[in-house]
Parts: sequence; C-alpha cells; structure tokens
Amino acid sequence: MSDLAATIAAIAAAMARETTRGAVAGYIPELAHVDPRHFGIAVVDAEGREHVAGDADLPFSIQSISKVFALVEALAAHGDRVWARVGREPSGSAFNSIVQLEAEAGRPRNPFINAGALAVTDLIAGSGGTPAILRRVRDLAGDPTIAVDAAVAASEAATGFRNAALANYMKSFGVIDGPVERTLPVYFEQCAIAMSCRQLARAGRFLMHGGRCPTSGAPLVSAERARRLLALMLTCGHYDASGEFAFQVGLPGKSGVGGGILAIAPGRASIAVWSPGLSKQGNSLLGTRALELLAHAMMWNVFNPDE
Ligand code: GLN
Repeated sequence: MSDLAATIAAIAAAMARETTRGAVAGYIPELAHVDPRHFGIAVVDAEGREHVAGDADLPFSIQSISKVFALVEALAAHGDRVWARVGREPSGSAFNSIVQLEAEAGRPRNPFINAGALAVTDLIAGSGGTPAILRRVRDLAGDPTIAVDAAVAASEAATGFRNAALANYMKSFGVIDGPVERTLPVYFEQCAIAMSCRQLARAGRFLMHGGRCPTSGAPLVSAERARRLLALMLTCGHYDASGEFAFQVGLPGKSGVGGGILAIAPGRASIAVWSPGLSKQGNSLLGTRALELLAHAMMWNVFNPDE
C-alpha cells in the first residue's frame, strides 16, 4: 500500500499532464464555460485527516451527485414511501433517457438517473424543498457556506426540456403527484449546488463511517440505510457506465455532469475528484482515471477480503 499524501500528489501531477480530457457538459450553457484544464482531488481518511491536491478548494457544480443527498433527505422525511415510486435497478440507459418509462408504467429504475431523481425530488418539493436539501448537505459537510449557484440553476431551467418531459411523463402515470412546475425548480437548484472537492469529501464522511457523524459518532442515517445508499452508488451511480466503474475502480461512487465524482472506500476514505471533461456517458474522464489510480495504489476495493 502506498503513502496517501504522496499518491494523491502524484495523481494530480499525472492528471495535469493528460491531454485527452473529454468535453465539458455543453448542454447546460452555464457549464459550457468551465475550463476543462481543472483537476482537483480531496480525500478524508478514517481518522479525519484531509489530503488534497490540485483545485481541491474551487467550487464546481455538483449536478447529479446531489441525487445522493436528495435521496438521504427524502428517506429521512418520507421513509420507505420513496420506494413506492422509484426502483433500485441499474438502468443501462443514458442518465436522461425516457425509453424505460413507457414500458415500466412511469416508475423510474433508480433514484440516480434523472427520472428517478425527479420522482424523489417531487416528494421533497412537497415537504422542505430546496432549503431542506441544502440544510442536509451543509450539515453533512459541516459547512454553512455551501450554496446554490443561481446562474447555473437558471441556465438549466431555461434549457431543461428533457427534464420537463420526464417529469410530465411521470406525472401522467401518477408517479409524480405535485405540480411539475413545483418539482422542476427544486431539481434544478439541487443540481446547481456548488461545492469544492474538499467540501464534497467531507459531506461523504458519513458513508465511510456506516452512517455515523464523523465527529460525534451519532447516527445520521442508520447503518442499514448507509449500506443501501452505497449499494445504489455502486450499481447505479454512473448511469450506463456503472458496471465499468465497478470493474475499474471497485468502489461505490456517484458522478455528475459538472465533472465531479464522490467515491467511498467504506471504513477507509471519502474521496471527491473533479475534472470537467466528460466521457460519452457523462462521467468525468480524468476523475474516473484518478479514482482508478488511487484505488489501485491504496488497495481500496469493496471486493477485497478484509485484511
Ligand atoms: N442537472 C443535470 C441534468 O438534469 C444532471 C445530470 C447529471 O449530472 N448527469 O441534466
């Protein structure tokens, strides 16, 4: 096993030299301006030590990584009623696909694709709305400064025709019960939360610690819920590249089209990486590469027998 600080520094140096970086998410106009040369990494270890390199303190748009925090909030506020409207199967389809909804009575495959997140967000829109999600993220990260980037939210609202289509389609099946006009803004705002790698890695600590607060040890979510969130991240966190991510990295992770990925090595580390250039499935190209290198160097893999 390698030294963590040295490994992270070496990965950041290697990523800075990479010339193939992928394309930024141009379909959200405000994200099309982001410089693809950014790379950041932050790791919080089991003892709470933080190791960072590159642009680890620069905020970026967390986009679909927010689907994890929204699910935590929905489960806290609505319990297992969440599972009446959304499944727990990988979709094998693009993050914004509509095709399965017709065949499957409007019930999205899982909470980490857009359709599933919209169904989850509809529940939250009827309870605490965006402030509840933001409060949850701030609490988990221990950072009251985390905020929604209003320009990104507005940019997505102006161009979010597919998400509007998904929400309306699900509404026709009764899977969304509130007004679509109430659900969509909450969805766009949660996607537009801006966080740095350091803030994101801090927000993921409870998942490394079986649902417990890293400082007080108090349960933030039950151990069973933490395990299930990780199971969903492993099987569904990277859309139609979830199998490939499990194969190459071997850790539960959740990506977003802002170029961030949150990955968890249970009992070992909460890891956030950011590089805005994406693969064709919408996952950070260098972020995935960096996680592969880190997981291999540290021998972090959920399928390792316990040392
Ligand atoms: N806000 C984005 C969208 O709805 C989130 C997608 C993503 O990060 N994969 O298209």
